Amino acid sequence: MELTELPESLLVLGGGYVALEQAQLFARLGSQVTVLARSRLASKEEPEVSRTLQEVFADEGIRVVRRALPTRVSRDAATGQAVVTADVAGGREEFRADQVLLALGRRPVTDGLNLDAVGVNTGDSGEVVVSDRLRSSNPRIWAAGDVTGHPEFVYVAAHHGTLVAENAFADADRAVDYSRLPRVTFTGPAIGAVGMTEKEVLAAGIRCDCRVLPLHHVPRALVNRDTRGFIKIVVNADTNEILGLTAVAKDAGELAAAGVHVLGKTVAEIADAWAPYLTMAEGIRIAAKAFTTDPSLLSCCA
Ligand SMILES: Cc1cc2nc3c(=O)[nH]c(=O)nc-3n(C[C@H](O)[C@H](O)[C@H](O)COP(=O)(O)OP(=O)(O)OC[C@H]3O[C@@H](n4cnc5c(N)ncnc54)[C@H](O)[C@@H]3O)c2cc1C
Repeated sequence: MELTELPESLLVLGGGYVALEQAQLFARLGSQVTVLARSRLASKEEPEVSRTLQEVFADEGIRVVRRALPTRVSRDAATGQAVVTADVAGGREEFRADQVLLALGRRPVTDGLNLDAVGVNTGDSGEVVVSDRLRSSNPRIWAAGDVTGHPEFVYVAAHHGTLVAENAFADADRAVDYSRLPRVTFTGPAIGAVGMTEKEVLAAGIRCDCRVLPLHHVPRALVNRDTRGFIKIVVNADTNEILGLTAVAKDAGELAAAGVHVLGKTVAEIADAWAPYLTMAEGIRIAAKAFTTDPSLLSCCA
């Protein structure tokens, strides 16, 4: 973000939200962008997210190389270009660009704090190990935000701050709970999600039922003339309770925010709930209806 000149070409190492947002930003500014991702794009999200983003990126001229494991970064003295060597699907390849963006994740920098001296345990990535009350192994020391190794979002850090103050000074004994934590990637279209993915539900031993509603069934998307994306709802097949919601859409973050209040409700409750016509959030109700009705047979607002 501090570059004073737009690089003609950019290699982005990573496939998480920072990588995706920055790759698209630079591509739209005019750089020739190549993304080297270890697995798929947004690999912690639903596979439909990766497929949709891959298509969007391809349309915008962003090259995505999956299953690429960078092994070396150097600079070509003759051209001044950065050279990244990577293992790609069994073979070795070289990628060249004016600049390289490392977006492979961040880790807490606690090495120099001598935390051992005060009995504060740290984990493998240097994170301060905390209880669900955010208390460290020293009962008089608490931690909040990214340094705990918990989900790295600014609203998590802010929530931690409040919780630590209340637990430390008012004996509130409040636990942190991420079961309804929304997450957003600000690409265009954006990725918005809350709750569990299908894979997580199955891994938890829960029988799962899912629907993926393509955006061409959502009137707001048609009016926007942008039907790229979908809304996916993941349900506990035994109770019909909604456990997760993922969307790729313009302003999908709004869907994730709405999804916070949808989790725990049954699909029938959401399918029957009021939803204003021509809002993207109406798509959540249509996706819930898709559990019992073919959405292509629904008339407007039905
Ligand atoms: C490119 C990018 C985009 C992001 N976009 C989003 C987004 O859209 N939405 C979102 O919710 N989150 C986003 N995040 C994540 C968000 O920035 C972090 O989760 C949030 O800043 C964490 O807050 P924090 O207070 O825990 O840590 P930080 O904001 O990192 O603050 C820690 C502070 O401590 C200081 N510090 C470190 N060591 C010491 C020391 N020894 N002594 C004194 N001070 C020290 C640091 O300099 C820093 O100022 C993004 C992050 C990145 C990198």
